[in-house]
Amino acid sequence: MELLKQRIMQDGRCYPGGILKVDSFINHQMDPMLMYKIGEEFIKRFSNENINKIVTIEASGIAPAIMVGYIMQLPVVFVKKKKPKTMENMLTTVVHSFTKDRDYTVCISNNFLTPDDRILFIDDFLAFGNAALGIVDLAKQSGAHIAGMGFIIEKAFQDGGNVLRKMGIHVESLAIIDSLDDCKITIR
Ligand code: 5GP
Repeated sequence: MELLKQRIMQDGRCYPGGILKVDSFINHQMDPMLMYKIGEEFIKRFSNENINKIVTIEASGIAPAIMVGYIMQLPVVFVKKKKPKTMENMLTTVVHSFTKDRDYTVCISNNFLTPDDRILFIDDFLAFGNAALGIVDLAKQSGAHIAGMGFIIEKAFQDGGNVLRKMGIHVESLAIIDSLDDCKITIR
């Protein structure tokens, strides 16, 4: 997605350890006009999939997911990183956070992920695929089908994309970063 790539080159910042900071338009301050176009692009790329629900994980996946859900007129559910005391029937899995270097037990109500669901998972970044593999586990537990996974930015030098595509999942990334070596952003 050309507009996104230009924005990353203009406003993205590299941090040591292969981290790309995009907090002026995605992760902290957000650009809703760009986010809307991101939503439209995801919909184009998954137009052949029969999707009935958008799933994401808090927090940074929520903005793009809600754009997709809004345009497609579909419900959006986000996996929570803290178990609410009031949630009775839930599915849980453990996800390792790349940026925070810690494990989270994430959860989703089993009222909102069921065998009738054909989900599109949306997230901001694909790095090692830990969050996505957590979704794969939750979908397996619930009997939901994963129709696709869409990421705003994929870091191809980390292995998540390979892992998910080898599993046969339809993965789409709107910008693919080949390298952040020497704090230089190289986009495919
Ligand atoms: P993964 O689960 O694929 O290993 O990592 C993806 C998650 O970690 C994303 O949800 C995102 O929040 C975070 N993440 C991974 N790499 C980066 C990065 O380079 N920059 C930012 N801002 N977040 C990242």
